[in-house]
Amino acid sequence: MKSLVLVFLFLAMNVSAQNTTPTAAEAQEFMNRAEAQLSDLAVKVNRASWVQENFITDDTQAMAADAIDEVTAVTTQLVEQAKRFNDLKLPADLARKFMLLKLSLTAPAPKDAALRRAMTEIGVSLDGDYGKGKYCRKNGECLDITAIEKLMSTSRDPEALKEVWTGWHAIAPPMRQRYSRFVALSNQGAREIGFKDVGALWRAGYDMTPEEFSADLERLWNQVRPLYLSLHTYVRWKLAEKYGPNIVPPDGPIPAHLLGNPWAQEWGNVYDLLGVTEDKAGVGVNVTELLKKKNLDPKSMVKYGEGFFTSMGFAPLPPTFWERSLFTKPADRDVVCHASAWDLDNMDDLRVKMCIQVRGTDFVTIHHELGHNFYQRAYKDQPFMFKNGANDGFHEAIGDAIALAITPEYLHKVGLLENVPPASNDIPELLKQALDRVAFLPFGLMIDQWRWKVFSGEIAPADYNKSWWALRLKYQGVAPPMARSEADFDPGAKYHVAANVPYTRYFLAHILEFQFYRALCRESGYKGPLNRCTFYGSKEAGAKFNKMLAMGQSKPWPDALEVLTGERQTDGGALLEYFAPLKQWLDEQNKGKKVGW
Ligand SMILES: [Zn+2]
Repeated sequence: MKSLVLVFLFLAMNVSAQNTTPTAAEAQEFMNRAEAQLSDLAVKVNRASWVQENFITDDTQAMAADAIDEVTAVTTQLVEQAKRFNDLKLPADLARKFMLLKLSLTAPAPKDAALRRAMTEIGVSLDGDYGKGKYCRKNGECLDITAIEKLMSTSRDPEALKEVWTGWHAIAPPMRQRYSRFVALSNQGAREIGFKDVGALWRAGYDMTPEEFSADLERLWNQVRPLYLSLHTYVRWKLAEKYGPNIVPPDGPIPAHLLGNPWAQEWGNVYDLLGVTEDKAGVGVNVTELLKKKNLDPKSMVKYGEGFFTSMGFAPLPPTFWERSLFTKPADRDVVCHASAWDLDNMDDLRVKMCIQVRGTDFVTIHHELGHNFYQRAYKDQPFMFKNGANDGFHEAIGDAIALAITPEYLHKVGLLENVPPASNDIPELLKQALDRVAFLPFGLMIDQWRWKVFSGEIAPADYNKSWWALRLKYQGVAPPMARSEADFDPGAKYHVAANVPYTRYFLAHILEFQFYRALCRESGYKGPLNRCTFYGSKEAGAKFNKMLAMGQSKPWPDALEVLTGERQTDGGALLEYFAPLKQWLDEQNKGKKVGW
């Protein structure tokens, strides 16, 4: 995750010239002043949010909420004022800034102040409901989402899993009414600034029409879907062996509570149920064990992450990063532990906020977060409106492309692993990767497939739950563990729905990270199977990477993609190439089994 509070403030500018025809020079002046002021306000909001997330109290929450609340009001006003330049022919850079300004609010508010306040209050209350959500057992024991995730990752008792799955989803029905009101109000805001609905506004952020973007997603999904089906078939078969055909129908959808995660979005936690025996010589690649063996503490894990980037020629992180970041959970106060990367002054004040544990998954997350930080620093000299990823998928994909290069060869090079395992260990390693990165793809896609239809009205409030499960069946091939009805509101049990955070970026990122990774491998001169490539130490790869990162959002994203990859289209081909040995292996195992549901 990245904390990117893009804020826009426009203070009482003289708009008395509204009745005369505006000029391009006026538009430029409007934007210059806006950017200067926005930049200042962004720093204030960042500081308020940083303090709030590091010291959660009623006061810090109120202060952060005030700052964000004000920004929504001012941005709405600013977008309204910018309308007068709509019909002007502007230079491409300036026109792009006006477009980005219009797209900057995820939930555009109605102009009417009372409606805007109502929308903000609902938004905050939904986010709060999710944050406070707990499942309380009859004996009075209450489980928050962290406890539920932990339990669902390790329990193999289908009844216990069903109980907590149901318990967690019970937090959402009270959100349902407010959610549909929120949809109506933000749609009104979207229409007032010229979009059909909020979904159309979200889809407009990809340098193509909303229709073209939808079609492009469909193309990408069809490209990677066969690999997903092979994985789904294999996992369903092994789960049916474990739980029996009455619980896991061998030719139907997989029950959503059995995949090691409350949303069945990543399946890595059921790896041990899949009956894969690892090559004895290669079992050593347990990153958690390697980190512990070296007695690494959280800060030194981050040093390894930084070391990957500096090996490619990036400058080290500034001293303030090490002084101001949060690396471990404080014992004496509440903090938001959810990992995030920050750029407080939009220049050099980079930080991460994480409660790092010495384990492999946190090692990967560190690289993910540092990817955000190195991106932020690379585009720091861009004008304020362009200080962002080429599109939102890019920002999420940078660190993950680096994380893919944490291969056994890399671990060996930096002295964490003694012996590089033989190629015979590749299948177990690839399967582990696929359970998270491939299993996620249809989930990453379906959330906004549902939401775009909700915003457009194609899905009516009376059908929220039914349509949710129809899409989960269609894309993921999963089903709820028991009958659901419109008395439920299962979408609200997912953070990004309750908190209104767009989700397609994560689908895109899971495709793009492989595309970036393949390009960096090529640039480093690597030849060989893609899954074994690391570009650690390659200055050539680093230089090319930096060239793309430094562009920020100044140009349409295909231009940025082309700089690194030579390609102008998002392409699932790199992901397929990476997993090709696994796909072949899965299809051999799956022979005679029904594919699909
Ligand atoms: Zn992120």
